[in-house]
Amino acid sequence: MTTKDAQRRSSGDTVQTVADAGASSAAAPQRIKALAGAVRPGARVRPEHARRHNRALVLQALYRADGLSRADLAREVGLTRVTISDLVSDFIEEDLVIELGLRPDARPGKPATLLDINREGFAIVGLDLSNYSVFRGVVTDLDGSIVERAEVAVRDMTGEEAVGAVFTLLDDLVSRASAPIVGIGIGSPGIVDLDGTVVSAPNLGWTDVPLQQLVAERYELPTQVANDANMAAQGERSFGGASTDMMLVRIGRGVGSGVVVGGHLVYGSSFAAGEIGHVVVGTDGGDECACGKAGCLETWLASPRLEAAAKADETAREATLREAGERLGISLAPVVAALNLGEVVLAGPHNLLAGPLLEGTSETLRSRTMAELHGDLTLRMTALGRDIVVLGAVVMVLTGQLGVS
Ligand SMILES: [Zn+2]
Repeated sequence: MTTKDAQRRSSGDTVQTVADAGASSAAAPQRIKALAGAVRPGARVRPEHARRHNRALVLQALYRADGLSRADLAREVGLTRVTISDLVSDFIEEDLVIELGLRPDARPGKPATLLDINREGFAIVGLDLSNYSVFRGVVTDLDGSIVERAEVAVRDMTGEEAVGAVFTLLDDLVSRASAPIVGIGIGSPGIVDLDGTVVSAPNLGWTDVPLQQLVAERYELPTQVANDANMAAQGERSFGGASTDMMLVRIGRGVGSGVVVGGHLVYGSSFAAGEIGHVVVGTDGGDECACGKAGCLETWLASPRLEAAAKADETAREATLREAGERLGISLAPVVAALNLGEVVLAGPHNLLAGPLLEGTSETLRSRTMAELHGDLTLRMTALGRDIVVLGAVVMVLTGQLGVS
């Protein structure tokens, strides 16, 4: 995804509603052969995996380009023309690749047909379960352009009832998709293991809920469930132009983060990497936290506290937001230094975060780390707005099913 695409997306003008969406495609045959795992160019490949690997390389090259010929592809991915032609024939049969026509500047006798991924020919469903009052969902095309939106109210819903709300939302979105669905991605709050089981999400009353399995079985579609902040980090990487070593901090009712090192998400020993909300910041006390400790990062940054500050007079407002930013900077400095991160991106209410809070974080982060790190360090707001989690869920599906991102 190009930066231009990200800007287009963030401005919201790609959002459209397809009023006459066709019949459900849930039962459409799965024409796409799954390609688990992302592609690492240059990685050693065992023979039995070579074809799968080559498929992903070709799709990735097409996904990032504006149209390539078979010869371009052979050059770009380092495979023979024969191999490329074979793979492309399969893709065309699967409807996953389309021919765009001849290259405009083609010379006589040297026609080159341009190819592209069938970006509008397939759909992906993405959900964000992290908001306390609504579950949000979208249907996108393979470019991540949103073609359908839906939400369901979930205030005070927990346990089975909350799982039921996920199904209600998915029933709606799956029935509205007008193209075959490649897969479903879901960003859930709490701790989520690599099998997509929600190990613990206190706000939803979920403990060991095998959400990925439940959804995959009900809809017979490839499904990926992951922590919401991790999804957001994926979204920022693919659609927000973030660097390969970055941290995405989500601030809302709670505080969580997704950490990407060397282009890969970090999960940690118990799948809780990035859970910085209940780390005590400083040794000078602070407000009591719901977890029983005092002065957790969440007590400084949770949106109710910030919203209350926003209503105060200008001086008090600025002081509270700056102090919240400083506490965030204190907690991020050792992480940024230890991992040599190049970018920290904040996601959450723009009116509260972009201003004294962001400045306070930036100044504190710089004053507490080595100057040698600062040249490459960027601290900024996301441009993806509130769609960051659903777009990250879409990226998870693209990567998991097609090997592209
Ligand atoms: Zn706490």
